[in-house]
Amino acid sequence: MTIYDRFGVRSRINAAGLLTRLGGSLMPAEVLDAMRQAAASFVDLAELQAAASTVIARHTGAEAGLVTSGAAAGLTLGAAACLAGLDTGRMDRLPETDDLPNEIVMCRTHRTSYDHAIRAAGARIREVGFNDRATGAGVRDVEVWELEAAITPRVVAVAYMATPESQPPLAEVTAMAHRHRLPVLVDAAAQLPPAENLRRFIADGADLAVFSGGKAIRGPQGTGILCGRRDLVASAALQQLDMDVRPETWRPPDLYRRQETLRGIPHHGIGRGFKVGKEEIVGLLVALERFATLDHAAEQARQEALLLAIRNRLADSPHIRARLLPAAETGRDPLLELRVDETALGLSAFALSLGLQQGEPPVHLGERNAAQGVLIVNPVGLREGDAETIATRLRSALHGKHPGGTRTA
Ligand SMILES: *Cc1c(COP(=O)(O)O)cnc(C)c1O
Repeated sequence: MTIYDRFGVRSRINAAGLLTRLGGSLMPAEVLDAMRQAAASFVDLAELQAAASTVIARHTGAEAGLVTSGAAAGLTLGAAACLAGLDTGRMDRLPETDDLPNEIVMCRTHRTSYDHAIRAAGARIREVGFNDRATGAGVRDVEVWELEAAITPRVVAVAYMATPESQPPLAEVTAMAHRHRLPVLVDAAAQLPPAENLRRFIADGADLAVFSGGKAIRGPQGTGILCGRRDLVASAALQQLDMDVRPETWRPPDLYRRQETLRGIPHHGIGRGFKVGKEEIVGLLVALERFATLDHAAEQARQEALLLAIRNRLADSPHIRARLLPAAETGRDPLLELRVDETALGLSAFALSLGLQQGEPPVHLGERNAAQGVLIVNPVGLREGDAETIATRLRSALHGKHPGGTRTA
């Protein structure tokens, strides 16, 4: 009996990718072991976060770093750092910013529902440009001059959503922003692998970048990384840490001290609700070190072999065409694309997917292109034996049985 059985919750096979709503990723044994050890002692959280900063700096090339309660929390803290800097009075006022410079400039094509996290700090997003390419009515994405034209004294930062296709190029945006002494905050939550991306956005001039700790890094699900400029990371940390301290005995790490710039000790800040435990900080650090030294090519070769095994078991299925997209083609993880002949099968890709999710054990495939009749097998979350189960369940779904399979299987 598993711990999930004990609480009446079903374990699921995840071939949909590393999704927060399915539990993020699975922590390697060495991460779990580190968390168990971390749970056995009291520590000063500020000292632990300052040590985390050194590790994050080493792996990202940034000046400093902070473990956050997820990349979204990192966006809120990063925005809070851009709004308040090391001004203790402003820290205490957030998220009320009406009479402060409070705008963050963003390309319309970079907006996602995650930028709620930026607004939560008190920032107003000043949206720039059109979405011509998505509407099909135009050919050009937002250009740097448009971002520059939006800069006024009310602007405190530029936010940038990183994807392999993001335009304008980050290096051009940061060069422009730095001419105006404005920081650039990059959402790189899901841009790993490739592992080189740990350094890429900072190298392109980002002043702050966020990564999810609970996706490809395989740290604790509720963690993330905020890395970047030392003063901004210090601001974020001071707005996140428990600040019930006595001035007589407060001895913060040098990274957060900066007495010369702090007019006083801030109270609990906007990030106080984004608590990160000592076990999670340690788990994230061990996971980050593992991720940074992992042989990703070997891992992708292993994943491709799993996908090929599934494809071979579906080769005689008349209603599905399975095609391997190797890592070399996707630029990150390999994928198996399943093109469903919905008419011949008498089921839509969505119905097939729902049936798999409702069977035993529940199986989740990627649904991003399901409206076009395509389901995706993403190997990153597969455990030993999962590939065989997926192939078996798909075969029974395609050969006339209910896609849920048999409950006793
Ligand atoms: C997953 C994701 C986030 C949120 O990350 P968490 O670590 O779950 O908080 C933010 N932005 C993008 C683009 C993401 O994919």
